[in-house]
Amino acid sequence: MASRILLRLVLLLLLSLTTSAQNPELSKTVKEFVRVEAPKVVLTHVRIIDGTGAAAVEDQNVVIEGGKITAIQQGAEVAASEGTTVLALRGYTVMPGIVGMHNHLFYVARPNLNSRRHFEPPVLVPQMTFSAPRLYLAGGVTTMRTTGSVETYADLNLKHDIDAGKLPGPHIDVTGPYLEGSTSYFVQMPHLTSADDARETVEYWAGQGVTSFKAYMNITRAELKAAIDAAHKRGLKVTGHLCSVTYKEAAELGIDDLEHGFFVNTQLDPDKKPDVCSESAGEETMARMDPSGPEAKDLIQTLVSHHVAITSTLPVFEGDVGGGRPPLRQQMLDAMTPQAREDFFLVRQRPASAPPPKIDPTLLWKHDLALERAFVAAGGLLLSGPDPTGRGDVLPGFGDQRGIELLVEAGFSPVEAIRIATLNGAIYMGKDKQIGSVSAGKNADLVVIKGDPSKQISDVENVEIIFKDGIGYDSQKLLDSVQGKYGLY
Ligand SMILES: [Zn+2]
Repeated sequence: MASRILLRLVLLLLLSLTTSAQNPELSKTVKEFVRVEAPKVVLTHVRIIDGTGAAAVEDQNVVIEGGKITAIQQGAEVAASEGTTVLALRGYTVMPGIVGMHNHLFYVARPNLNSRRHFEPPVLVPQMTFSAPRLYLAGGVTTMRTTGSVETYADLNLKHDIDAGKLPGPHIDVTGPYLEGSTSYFVQMPHLTSADDARETVEYWAGQGVTSFKAYMNITRAELKAAIDAAHKRGLKVTGHLCSVTYKEAAELGIDDLEHGFFVNTQLDPDKKPDVCSESAGEETMARMDPSGPEAKDLIQTLVSHHVAITSTLPVFEGDVGGGRPPLRQQMLDAMTPQAREDFFLVRQRPASAPPPKIDPTLLWKHDLALERAFVAAGGLLLSGPDPTGRGDVLPGFGDQRGIELLVEAGFSPVEAIRIATLNGAIYMGKDKQIGSVSAGKNADLVVIKGDPSKQISDVENVEIIFKDGIGYDSQKLLDSVQGKYGLY
């Protein structure tokens, strides 16, 4: 009898543990942004872009229960009842939550930036731990990789607090501190001293809970190899923004992903020496690489055969293509501090007195777009992320949306571009059974958008509700909560 009571208690405890893992008690802070929360939610008469690249399907109902999508049915009227919330959404589109794969939680500060676009060293990187997660979620991002962290403990604690329902934000894959060689672009990066150091660094941070790594511009091949092997031993992946190591070398060393499309490959840079970053950091290679020429074919074949993904980060390059190119979005300007806004206008506008760039940025842009297309056509896994690094034209969330629009400019269809920003990221992370597409049984990580991005891609900007694990967050309320804060904290 006593043992039966004990068994029942254990079962009850187990049940409460499993339900609390699925739906943690939300804090007052998080509840402020919740628009929809009910045991059962039905989104009626929506258009579905499912994230697989399939054509949009009109007039569907999506049923959400217990944090999951439990059914997708032909559109029909449903009566609200006790425990069931019905949202009538004719004219709206539902797509998967964005899986952002180059989504930093920091801003890059350029001290004393002036109208000649000069700034003083050291470049440093304040954390945006308050504003960035809210902006990501508001923009439709439900899962993201930090792709290089500066305050790694802060990022780990943030992830923990979001998962525990204490803070608003997406699910986070926390990338460890940059695996950088002997010099670095900004002052907070640690510097590796040897292959052993690389291995120990990976082991230490994996032990702290980091779930991915990123190699940086001045790492040596030996350090990169040691880091990759140590990460793979623990089932973790390594990406890289490289320069000292070429794309082909990195693929052969076993790297899992390369950042910035094809912009930072250095294999054809005339001054490239082994293990040392070249002067142009890849521009020379991009200018020389004919997207349909033999070097491009060989490179793409190497990447695909080694299962190396490529992360497209078009938003961070777009501003270089020609003055004033990215559209000014009022909501983005509103999210920035006055100082960040001023810096944005200085960075955006090349003064007439400034010498023109050595290599025409429009040529680099054209080559990259064609290479990204050729990579996908050859069977490569293309991912997407904005790289928000303190340029006012690339903000968390807004930048993720812009990335999708620019993939359409690159020649992908709207539904293919959405797949790159959703399902492909889930596949890379090994989470495509849980997230990445709108499918019964998957987690209810969904974006409700006014309009039809399958016809007009700029409609991806019209995010109204973001479901994360079945709870619907209000995009506008999240944006309102960070007005004037991005750039500060
Ligand atoms: Zn970056």
